[in-house]
Amino acid sequence: MAASDDADSYRDVTEVALARQPWDQERAQRVREYLQHRTEEQYGAWIEDLAAHGLDDDVPNGDEVIFPDGYDRLPARLAAGLDIRLEHIVTHLDWSVDGVTVTTGRGSFTADDAVVAVPVGVLHSGDLVIDPPLPDPVGSALGRLEMNAFEKVVLRFPTAFWDKDVYAIRQQGAQGAWWHSWYDLTAVDGTPSLLTFAAGPAAVQTRGWTEDRVVASVLAQLRRLYGDRVPQPTHAHVTSWQDDPFARGAYAYMPVGSRLADHDDLATPIAGVLHLAGEATWGDDPATVTAALCSGHRAAANILGRSIPISALWAES
Ligand SMILES: Cc1cc2nc3c(=O)[nH]c(=O)nc-3n(C[C@H](O)[C@H](O)[C@H](O)COP(=O)(O)OP(=O)(O)OC[C@H]3O[C@@H](n4cnc5c(N)ncnc54)[C@H](O)[C@@H]3O)c2cc1C
Repeated sequence: MAASDDADSYRDVTEVALARQPWDQERAQRVREYLQHRTEEQYGAWIEDLAAHGLDDDVPNGDEVIFPDGYDRLPARLAAGLDIRLEHIVTHLDWSVDGVTVTTGRGSFTADDAVVAVPVGVLHSGDLVIDPPLPDPVGSALGRLEMNAFEKVVLRFPTAFWDKDVYAIRQQGAQGAWWHSWYDLTAVDGTPSLLTFAAGPAAVQTRGWTEDRVVASVLAQLRRLYGDRVPQPTHAHVTSWQDDPFARGAYAYMPVGSRLADHDDLATPIAGVLHLAGEATWGDDPATVTAALCSGHRAAANILGRSIPISALWAES
């Protein structure tokens, strides 16, 4: 892995590693399949499209936690007392060393500095025009990153048909090409619930399907495993981040040809007035809420020209 270069995919380097193992074909194939699904579920990308270093941040520190009332708790608390204008869709951002002018559907705003924290997919789309265009290293780093294809499917059931205390249900082999992992979310509020993902190729191919068709496809797979014990869900939720014009995917990933440094290069201050933030700009742990939060904190420190203890954010808000 360390010896790989920018042209290598995650598939290339994992095949090199697999070839060095003393395993029989069956075991090697199971590990190969695991790595493929890992790529899909972590980055919503096909293993041959992900850069060799695209999963380097795959080991989270600390506990896995769920915010039962949603992540909105974090920005709501941090925004308390601030002048936040919702539903102002930014179409243009003009900048120079003198400051920025932002044009929205509800008027224009000028400022000494701006922090732009829209997803990479929005910056790629042209819906938000930045003028003059982003200079290097920001512009070239942006050109190398891509938005992924990653959707969630949550099914709630009248009764649980799977074993208790199971973290994940897995389908291995060819049948698991799309729907291969289900996570038990029952602990969130007591309702028997399973979460699965349409990730990478599955998300691309099911894009545009109706919710009923997605649910029927997932249920068919569950019934292969559990038979008639699988009841009709009482509720289903299927995301469509790929088609959300304010997201254009779930989060960014590193395609072949990109570099680890691209993440932090995106956050290079521009002319002392323009600062990019958001999950894709934080190289230490991109694609996470932590990255989004820490990148905004870094942008604020760059604007103020001094460090801000992160603990102060919570104390003051
Ligand atoms: C399926 C899935 C699973 C995930 N799992 C985890 C996990 O387990 N742990 C974890 O930490 N993270 C996880 N994440 C990732 C995490 O949710 C994101 O990294 C994080 O939300 C990104 O925050 P952000 O502020 O960079 O971008 P966003 O949350 O996308 O915010 C961008 C904002 O910009 C706004 N915007 C866009 N265009 C415009 C415009 N033209 N004008 C004005 N506003 C605009 C959007 O409306 C949005 O409010 C997961 C994400 C997905 C999709």
